[in-house]
Amino acid sequence: MPDNRISLGQGILKGLALTIKHFISRPIITVQYPEERLVTSRRIRGCDLVWDSERCTACCTCAKSCPQGNIHIETKVRPDNTREAVVFEIDHGRSMFCGLCVESCPFDAIHMGRSYERATYNRDSLVIPKEKLVAQGDRQPSGYFRPQFEETLPPQSLLIYGGKSSEVKTPENPPPQSPATAAPVSEKKEPAEREKVGVK
Ligand code: SF4
Ligand code: SF4
Repeated sequence: MPDNRISLGQGILKGLALTIKHFISRPIITVQYPEERLVTSRRIRGCDLVWDSERCTACCTCAKSCPQGNIHIETKVRPDNTREAVVFEIDHGRSMFCGLCVESCPFDAIHMGRSYERATYNRDSLVIPKEKLVAQGDRQPSGYFRPQFEETLPPQSLLIYGGKSSEVKTPENPPPQSPATAAPVSEKKEPAEREKVGVK
């Protein structure tokens, strides 16, 4: 008859050995959020959108592309016959962050953001006007559909690059800000052409 005390002891030893093996050989993937944060994917579709007022021609393509009707734009014609977005606001509370508005913009003027912390007690505060849609603070463009930003962003922690020590954000090690004004990859839309498109 087998001695159950011996087999029980072997199981405990095996479990301890496995624990020690992982403790020594695997990177620690738990971080002390929110003091520590992992670096997200360069192509993250975060919980916000970033708008570039300089590049926008108020063509409204993004608004037409949004399946939710989240983007509200009102335009006026300038004396030089180009258009300006006098109202440009996005209801982030209704957005499903599908990225269709980003993909449809002919002038690389709207981008997915990198932030994933937009919790609020008030839904009205999720309707973001144009003054707050521009890149500022933690509202920075992601590399999603924008390879010109992707090249400037830090590698993602853990999942695809492995290792985390240099990629965990702490107050002493803040994430680099991606340049919101980086030149677009597509050169097919020159400023003169952009102005033409704004003319109806
Ligand atoms: S599609 Fe692009 S250029 Fe046109 S209104 Fe939207 S953000 Fe501006
Ligand atoms: S990400 Fe999708 S749902 Fe959100 S505003 Fe853009 S098109 Fe609309």
